[in-house]
Amino acid sequence: MTYSYTQISQYLGCPRRYRHRYLDGWQEKDTRAPMLFGRASEQAVAALFRREDPAAVLFEQWGLCKDMDLTYSGNDTWDRMLQQGVQLLERFAQDGRVRIRRPRSTQQIQFTRTLASGNTFVAYVDAIGELDGTPCVLEWKTTSARYPEEPAGISALDPQLVCYSWMTGIDEVAQVVFVRKRLVEVQYLRATISDEQRQEFATLVDDTVRRIESGLFLPHSGIRFPQDPCTTCPFLGLCLDKRDLVEAGLVRKPGVDLGLFDELLH
Ligand code: SF4
Repeated sequence: MTYSYTQISQYLGCPRRYRHRYLDGWQEKDTRAPMLFGRASEQAVAALFRREDPAAVLFEQWGLCKDMDLTYSGNDTWDRMLQQGVQLLERFAQDGRVRIRRPRSTQQIQFTRTLASGNTFVAYVDAIGELDGTPCVLEWKTTSARYPEEPAGISALDPQLVCYSWMTGIDEVAQVVFVRKRLVEVQYLRATISDEQRQEFATLVDDTVRRIESGLFLPHSGIRFPQDPCTTCPFLGLCLDKRDLVEAGLVRKPGVDLGLFDELLH
């Protein structure tokens, strides 16, 4: 069996959710505009480092979604998101803080590991390059709200960054966050991951895989702030046995699905 960061984090969020998604084959309909826009933006950033026209790539990739019946958040529209994306790419290029020396071989890199149980763990790292001259693992994020920067060092607690450090064996990691808001902003958040954190993450993965393979899928439900995972959970219709909710938000894709497309989008 192949596991990924997304699978582990889904299980830790709610084991029942993991079962709906990875064992029973239910998936959210691919109509979420922010998610699809994030994917298009990542392809545009990759193009920038290959010295191609990033705005043209964004227009082309985001254009593939234009006639889909997308679900937008807040005041977002297809045009508004495109405009913000182009502004963010311009800002990022002007900043000039990130360097990728071999853009064709050091972007979207697949790393695999064999776990203690004999299973495989896979991760896709957005890039390995330099931020302000320091070599590091790079992750691109597109969001409509800033990531927290205070207190200092908080980025080192991001489990996905710890996961990338564990998979690559590189201490220095950084998130480049493309914030889509009225005045767009690019955040550069760096962290140094310790050996102890990597070992703890490895133990967390082994422990989670053991629970999954033991068939433990009890729900971690909650509907009250701030522990309210059910109210935003795409699988709510399944847990409430409401067919209308299920049909509105989910599709079922039977068969083995490793969720690797989710991994690329994460
Ligand atoms: S609705 Fe609640 S209990 Fe059901 S899968 Fe989602 S988070 Fe878990």
